[in-house]
Amino acid sequence: MQEQQTLRKSVTLSGMGLHSGTAVHMRLLPASVNTGIIFRRMDLPGQPEIPAAVESIASTNRNTSLSRGTAQVMTVEHLMAALRGLGVDNAIIELDGGEPPMGDGSAQIFVEMIQEAGLSAQGTRRHFCQLNTPVWVSQGDSHLVAVPADEFTVSYTFVSDHPQVGTQYGEFAITEDVFLQELAPARTLIFAKDIEALRRQGLGLGGNLDSVVIIGDNGYHNSLRYQDEVVRHKILDIVGDLGLLGFLQAHVIGVRSGHSLNRQLMLEIWEQAYSAMGVGNR
Ligand SMILES: [Zn+2]
Repeated sequence: MQEQQTLRKSVTLSGMGLHSGTAVHMRLLPASVNTGIIFRRMDLPGQPEIPAAVESIASTNRNTSLSRGTAQVMTVEHLMAALRGLGVDNAIIELDGGEPPMGDGSAQIFVEMIQEAGLSAQGTRRHFCQLNTPVWVSQGDSHLVAVPADEFTVSYTFVSDHPQVGTQYGEFAITEDVFLQELAPARTLIFAKDIEALRRQGLGLGGNLDSVVIIGDNGYHNSLRYQDEVVRHKILDIVGDLGLLGFLQAHVIGVRSGHSLNRQLMLEIWEQAYSAMGVGNR
C-alpha cells in the first residue's frame, strides 16, 4: 500500500510572483490525512482557504489560477508539480499575497523546500485517480488524451517552426527520481515577440532572464539546462495542473496543449469518475 504523506515540519520562502511581480511570503505546513492541498490567503480578512482542486480553477490564461469566493491564487502549477512529483498528499500553503514566489521559473525551489521539510508517511492509503476508458479533449489543432494505465506517464509534442527550437517530443514516466532529475529544473519559457502582449494583460510582470527562458528570433537569450528544456517544462506544467486531481494513474498524451486543455481534460476525468460512482452530475 502506498501511504499518504505530508511534510515533517513547516518551511518558509520569500520572493516575487512571476506574473504579478509582487513580493510574497509563503509557508508550507503539514496537514492531516485526507486534507489534500489547501492554499490559505493570510493577507485577506478571515484568511480564506482555496482547495487545490479542479473545481477551484478560475483562469488558465498563461498560468493556472484558483479561486474560492473572492480569494484567488495564481500560478499554482509549478508548486503543485513539486508537491505531486515528490509525493505530498496533504499540506497547507499559507501566502500573504496572490501568487507563490517564482524562484527560477521551474519547480526547483519548491523541491528544495519540500526536501528541507522532509516527508512523513501517515499510515492511511493514498487515493489514486483512475480512468475506466480513454478521455480526450481538443481545441483547433491542440489535443490532449488520457489513457488508463497503472502508472502516471506524460508524452508531449511541442510544435514550432522556430529554427533553434523546432518541434520537440518528450516522454517521461513520472517517478520521483525522474521528476527530480529530468523535469523539476526545466524553466518557464516565452517567445520574445509575445512579451509585450503578455505585459499588456498585466502578466509576466515579475519575469526576467533569471526566471524565464526567452526565445528571440535569433535563438535563446539564456543558456539552457536541457537541449529540450521547452518540452520538459510543458510536461512539468501538465504534472502540476493534473496534480489538482490528486495522483493520476494514466498515460497522458499532449500535442500543442496548454493550461486550458489541461483544465478541460480534468473536468472530463472528473465527470467520468463521478458517473462511475453513480452519483450523477456534479
Ligand atoms: Zn509553467
